[in-house]
Amino acid sequence: MGSTDHIRRAILDGARAELAGIGIPESVRAGFVRKEEQDMFEGMDSKAKDPRKSIHVEEVPTPPLGPNEVRMAVMASAINYNTVWTSIFEPLPTFAFLERLGKESELGKRHDLDYHIIGSDASGVVLEIGAGVTRWKPGDEVTVHCNYVDMEAPEGHDDSMIDPSQRIWGFESNFGAFADITMVKANQLMPKPRHLTWEEAACLGLVSSTSYRMLVSPNGADMKQGDVVLIWGATGGLGGFAAQYVLSGGGIPVGVVSSPDKVDILNAAGVEHVIDRKAEDYRFWDGDQQNPKEWRRLGKKIRELAGDDPDIVFEHPGRQTFGASVFVAKKGGTIVTCASTSGFMHEYDNRYLWMNVKKIIGSHFANYKEAWEANRLAYLGMIHPILSKTYPLAEVGEAAYQVHQNLHTGKLGVLVMAPEEGLGVSDPELRASHKDEIELFKKFE
Ligand code: NAP
Repeated sequence: MGSTDHIRRAILDGARAELAGIGIPESVRAGFVRKEEQDMFEGMDSKAKDPRKSIHVEEVPTPPLGPNEVRMAVMASAINYNTVWTSIFEPLPTFAFLERLGKESELGKRHDLDYHIIGSDASGVVLEIGAGVTRWKPGDEVTVHCNYVDMEAPEGHDDSMIDPSQRIWGFESNFGAFADITMVKANQLMPKPRHLTWEEAACLGLVSSTSYRMLVSPNGADMKQGDVVLIWGATGGLGGFAAQYVLSGGGIPVGVVSSPDKVDILNAAGVEHVIDRKAEDYRFWDGDQQNPKEWRRLGKKIRELAGDDPDIVFEHPGRQTFGASVFVAKKGGTIVTCASTSGFMHEYDNRYLWMNVKKIIGSHFANYKEAWEANRLAYLGMIHPILSKTYPLAEVGEAAYQVHQNLHTGKLGVLVMAPEEGLGVSDPELRASHKDEIELFKKFE
């Protein structure tokens, strides 16, 4: 059995100099799914597939280290919806991604294993750097973004999200964040916001960067001051950050949520216009037909609240809402989408798109620059974490279950090497000046 106690102790004692050359154990604790179990839920309804049965926490060999890579101690991580997808083996088992990566290169072969260590967000400390790494050193406190890309191909040099080798770390690659020690590419690292705890810092990377690209970046909707933005799932992982980007960029958010508690959170966060979709009981689908009258009812509600149609619709629920999203967007407006939680096969009435010169923009995670800018806003205390609850690594399956059943708000954190919540703050003054915003989602838990 490998022990990481000496590493944890050095980090908690602030003995950064000890970390260069510190002994790395041969095995570590990790959360993973098994290839031999990838058919375990076959034939079951999606919601009945239980991440608590498929995610295991056990010792595995310590992730390897190659050129341009960094080994880091993971202090905390967070649940993302991709954790849910991997753990229920939908829409396909992620072992297919690992096999493909294994065929691409010698280094890629390391990923093609019969277990998949998952997790796509991390905060922690650099322990060891591979050949060619110059910008980071042991002892650096970091967060990780999940754009895992080689940057050898010419196609990626305008925007690494269109590089042919682009993958999501811990979803389409092995050696993700749910491990005491993980391996990442050096170009995934960003400075950890010093006023945040390990678990708060770990909930930013994936969803904050994705929302940044969708709304703020010219690669996404390129929001301008005064834009009305309809945000589905406005207290969820993506939506909780989207609401902040709209407010801080001078837009007018209209948040959609599914309970009075979530309405209260958004109001407390400064979002004035909120729609409770459960209370309104929208029925966009009547069997396999959509109901334009219900689209109209949503549009009327948005106009009543915001005085206008949305310039931008922030889409991710997919099939259930997409027809409504295309309909309610303003003439000339934008529907920006990054997901299809309720189904991939979207249907919408194209007359409302072309006659009203609307556009649909596909968006996926973020390039390094976009992730860096999103992290910088958090570092400066301008965008805040939306962490509501934190679980120990041993209960990562339960945390994924909560997200799968939509029982959560904001983000669920996972303590990995950090022994308890609340550690890792090195700028208490900045924290004190934003305490209420930082802890907003925790208060409603
Ligand atoms: P999340 O934390 O579960 O939040 C999503 C929210 O959407 C839910 O809390 C729910 O809020 C709302 N929602 C769910 N189903 C809905 C439906 N049928 N109609 C209306 N609202 C619905 O998840 P997330 O982290 O925000 O991720 C959302 C989706 O985006 C997932 O499919 C995820 O895989 C994807 N994603 C993609 C990328 C990318 O780079 N492409 C990045 C991050 C996430 P209410 O119940 O309160 O309405």
